[in-house]
Amino acid sequence: MERFATGKDAALARRPDAPLYCFRPAVLRADAQRFMSLFPGETAYAVKTNGEPMVLSTLVEAGVKTFDVASPGEFEAVRAASPDAEMLYMHPIKAQSDIRLALETYGIRTLALDHEDEIAKVLRIVRALDLDPGDITIYVRLQTKGHALYELSKKFGAAPGHSVELVKRLDRIGFKVGLCFHVGSQIEETETYERALASADWVRGRAGVELAGLDLGGGFPADYGQDPRAKRPTLPDLDALMGSLRDNIREWDFQDLPLVAEPGRVVVARAFSLICRVLLRKGKRLYINDGIWASLSDSWTGKITLPARFIPDPARKTRAGDANRNVPFKVCGATCDSVDILSRPFWLPDTVDTGDWIEIGHIGAYSLALRTRFNGFYSDDFVEVETAFADNGAPDGYASLETMAD
Ligand SMILES: *Cc1c(COP(=O)(O)O)cnc(C)c1O
Repeated sequence: MERFATGKDAALARRPDAPLYCFRPAVLRADAQRFMSLFPGETAYAVKTNGEPMVLSTLVEAGVKTFDVASPGEFEAVRAASPDAEMLYMHPIKAQSDIRLALETYGIRTLALDHEDEIAKVLRIVRALDLDPGDITIYVRLQTKGHALYELSKKFGAAPGHSVELVKRLDRIGFKVGLCFHVGSQIEETETYERALASADWVRGRAGVELAGLDLGGGFPADYGQDPRAKRPTLPDLDALMGSLRDNIREWDFQDLPLVAEPGRVVVARAFSLICRVLLRKGKRLYINDGIWASLSDSWTGKITLPARFIPDPARKTRAGDANRNVPFKVCGATCDSVDILSRPFWLPDTVDTGDWIEIGHIGAYSLALRTRFNGFYSDDFVEVETAFADNGAPDGYASLETMAD
């Protein structure tokens, strides 16, 4: 992979006309190691956040030994990156054939579920393969309540009373039993984990079963741009958040249990930026070569503020507008689809014009993974960048910023 010191260097050298991804392996290693040093248990990277082979092998180099997987494609990707990484199959609702593949071919021995019919599915394969349930750990996924940009308990998780029944049933069969939750992605309140720990404690008390572990899922907030006009409260930084999480773990007496976290976003967000090009400026509209069917769907649905760097094309000799004033641009994506217009504007210097580039930072999570081939557009072009996006000064603007309330 071609290497550059900064994204801007890559843009000016390559003059890319299709979206170009800047991968920062040093940033990925540092962010993974930072998380591992702050979390008092096993770190299982959530592969769905970004399952690119370059990401998985860099994480293995950084010392990540465990991966949270959900599908045959993810089993295979992790195996290709590391022959001995441990996989936790944490999708609560699985195809029968995938359960067999996990247990038989990939040697997976940790699964999650939230319903008795799923126990029957797993048990059928365990019996067919003549495995000892005592070698298998099953986590019961608890429903949680809290505030995150994406609330996942609407889709998965058993209510506390139901979880107690599931724990007891799994224990009677002879499985090792754990509890898990996933509070959603990009949490917005520090108390979110504490509420989930309280509910795990309640289930543990009622079930009266010796637990094999507690898995706290993902949701840890990544570092994004800060909307300068936002009224939303800002979260404490990761060190403070993890400090209060460690306190909560002790308060609810989980410190002696094997603990697992499944971070995605917080590990990989800063490891990529995206260089997109302005195909046309039409008044206060920018038509760019990316969009909601390419790298920008997460910032769009998640209302995430991404830092942006303006990279003017040196070939343009004349410019209109005030370079020191940021203005909102409506952004239209590359496809012919009329839905492919971002719901929030990019705030960029007024001088942006046709042919310029915009480097969007902190785009490593849920962007590459969500690209589609819709309309024949699909970029898969990468360069390596040595410095972090934020190392090169403050952003010149923001991609996907909330419009003013008034
Ligand atoms: C998506 C997912 C994660 C990762 O979530 P982040 O918010 O990216 O940290 C972890 N666990 C489960 C079960 C998930 O579905």
